[in-house]
Amino acid sequence: AVELRGVSVHFGRTVALHGLDLAVAPGETLALLGPSGSGKSTALKAVAGFLRPTSGRVLLAGRDVTDTPPNRRGLGVVVQSYALFPHLKVADNVAFGLRARRMPRRAVAERVEEVLDLVGMAGFRDRYPRQLSGGQQQRVAIARALAIRPPVLLLDEPLSALDAALREEMVAELLRLRSELPDTAIVHVTHDQGEALALADRIAVMRDARLVEVGPTESLYHRPAEAFTASFLGASN
Ligand code: ATP
Ligand code: MG
Repeated sequence: AVELRGVSVHFGRTVALHGLDLAVAPGETLALLGPSGSGKSTALKAVAGFLRPTSGRVLLAGRDVTDTPPNRRGLGVVVQSYALFPHLKVADNVAFGLRARRMPRRAVAERVEEVLDLVGMAGFRDRYPRQLSGGQQQRVAIARALAIRPPVLLLDEPLSALDAALREEMVAELLRLRSELPDTAIVHVTHDQGEALALADRIAVMRDARLVEVGPTESLYHRPAEAFTASFLGASN
């Protein structure tokens, strides 16, 4: 469902991404791991359309979307810089994408309740984002991304503002969500290897703007092909 073909992103003289080739199938969760500054968020932003690759193409469901603006890509996106709309209540934040798709009022209300429930935020529907903690805002952002049942869900450290207990709870929720969205391709950037182990079918490891290795979660952990993968996964355990 998602495909990056030779995607490079340059910021002036900085090469943030160098010829990335990566594909994620419908129903598959790919965890993107790697040191800080290795290009994980840049890769996600290229898929989301928040930045345009210097070269290479991005495909969604086989369609070249490299020149399609973010709001026309139909994705669910949770990134830390992609904040909630501050002037909209929680419920209206979550309803936003549904209304844009002209879903009937009643169905919108039902879906909003459903996804707020899913992230444990049903009691907060009438609050404004500024009246929520960082972790609560993150959970609403996840609900907003899920609401449209997106074919592709992009998660950039979606649980990083949560405490350990809540993070564990949300990992369980994300697992349940897989059954709610059986055909969604998920790209999940995380520093938390527990999260990757629990959620990912495959893991991709990046270093210095390049893909080091990609493979099924289990084999990457137990039989990494690259020394870097072994030391990186070992070191941050
Ligand atoms: P982290 O784990 O810290 O979030 P990351 O793997 O997500 O790191 P990126 O945010 O993709 O890393 O950054 C990759 C490289 O591109 C870094 O060297 C970063 O400094 C650089 N970079 C990212 N965004 C910009 C920008 N807007 N302008 C200039 N350089 C940038
Ligand atoms: Mg990042």
